[in-house]
Amino acid sequence: CGIVGYVGAQSALDVVLAGLRRLEYRGYDSAGVAVLAGDQVACVKKAGKLSQLEKALVDDPLPGSDATGDGHGGATGIGHTRWATHGGPTDTNAHPHLDASGRCAVVHNGIIENFAALRDELAARGTAVRSQTDSEIAAHLLAEEYAALEGSAPPGGARLAGAMRAVCRRLEGAFTLVALHADAPDVIVGARRNSPLVVGCGEGEAFLASDVSAFIDHTRTAMELGQDQVVEVHPDRAVVTGFDGAPADARTYRVDWDASA
Ligand code: GLU
Repeated sequence: CGIVGYVGAQSALDVVLAGLRRLEYRGYDSAGVAVLAGDQVACVKKAGKLSQLEKALVDDPLPGSDATGDGHGGATGIGHTRWATHGGPTDTNAHPHLDASGRCAVVHNGIIENFAALRDELAARGTAVRSQTDSEIAAHLLAEEYAALEGSAPPGGARLAGAMRAVCRRLEGAFTLVALHADAPDVIVGARRNSPLVVGCGEGEAFLASDVSAFIDHTRTAMELGQDQVVEVHPDRAVVTGFDGAPADARTYRVDWDASA
């Protein structure tokens, strides 16, 4: 339902939670966050209101988050508020979803129509899907495609974007996807088909969101992704391509409406 991603020098956890709060008006039944802490992904997700997630984060702070008081903000993070379509509102079904290694985290808006066939393919390869969602398969497939590109691309954002394109070519339906990978620090990638995704371009920091209101407190320079596009987002640049890998033109614009309300 609502998606926020962040890469930059602030606490990713704080920025992502504030962004999710901004998206609350959309309605949701669960919420979750994943941040890169050191070279690990730390993920917390809860059925219920955002306050449930925030309480869980106070009771059990994420390693590397500011709440631990170690001064390390966790520079890369993604978050989601869920409006369940496949699988009830439970902690397990909440996003982000992780691959089996726990190194790759994905949030999804929309409906992946061919998820059952892809889940069966994963099962045949020995990868069990834990949730009842149509979304979790995207995390497993992204980790698989990222691993498959070893040898043809060095670890990092370009490889993660390439893996995302390969995943998107296999998906049917409507989706906004945002992901991070522990092997590609300081980068988030996003993709969209029949569902919105906007890049926020700040000074040495960048955002991905389903709606500009998620990052309007930080930057008013935005870039809207076109249909069937993938974006690789670094703190200082965003690289846009089609699902086929062709470079795409993406123009930035200024958000001039008053978002203080
Ligand atoms: N279809 C996904 C799910 O049920 C995503 C729902 C959403 O857009 O929040 O988990």
